Amino acid sequence: MKPTIFTIFFLFFFNSAFASNLDALLWEAVRSDHFIVYYQEAPSGYVSKIIEAAEKYYKEITFELGFTRFEGFWTWDKRAKIYLFKNIDDYKHHSHQPAWSSAGVNVLNREITTYVGNEDFFENTLPHEMGHLIFREFVGYRRKLPLWLDEGIASYLEKRFTKERLVIVKILFSYGLFMDLDELEKVNIRNMIMPDLFYYESASIIDFLLGVYGKEKFFAFCNALKELPVYEDWRKALFGVYKIENAAQLNKEWIEFLKKKN
Ligand SMILES: [Zn+2]
Repeated sequence: MKPTIFTIFFLFFFNSAFASNLDALLWEAVRSDHFIVYYQEAPSGYVSKIIEAAEKYYKEITFELGFTRFEGFWTWDKRAKIYLFKNIDDYKHHSHQPAWSSAGVNVLNREITTYVGNEDFFENTLPHEMGHLIFREFVGYRRKLPLWLDEGIASYLEKRFTKERLVIVKILFSYGLFMDLDELEKVNIRNMIMPDLFYYESASIIDFLLGVYGKEKFFAFCNALKELPVYEDWRKALFGVYKIENAAQLNKEWIEFLKKKN
């Protein structure tokens, strides 16, 4: 099993060099209700396969996260853009993403970049990156949140290795290697030691929140984050909506959920 989230680079903030670089290249474009796919060379049917998958995930993700009542996503000139380079070398050369990455996302510009032949794109990368875009589009870009929350939502939406992810988190817990909420919250892109384990645990909390409390509560939580003044602690939204006293109670409930879940 090769964990793919490790290969995804997440760019939250506007990067002008990156954007202008893409604009300077020549692209063909195909539009759907919520997406524009820009491409240069792709095998016959490849672009329509991407459009089809992206529209399908759009429906699934807004449903899974309980966002279906929110109508403001990506129509007309606000469509999300997928830039498809013709091969991995072109992607690495032009996208300004790290050499180890297989896709990138620019949340502020609603842009995903990848290349033709990215094996993981359809099952993992696309839902992962769309999760970032949809969540941030809803709660706002300025809200400072712990990395585990952004990555947890995105990783939860990936379609492969969901069983393996659960097994690994259970093993971590049984060997006392489990990071609780406070420890997860300290992890950022610079101090992350074991990225895969961090992503698995982050996804597991989202699995717990959705599995135990449901979509409506999750939507209410996201809405509370959106409404919360930016200077307020994000945990106010979490504990307020879920009626959870503190981190210790959340950890306890999360572990109970893990023990029962197969
Ligand atoms: Zn991510």
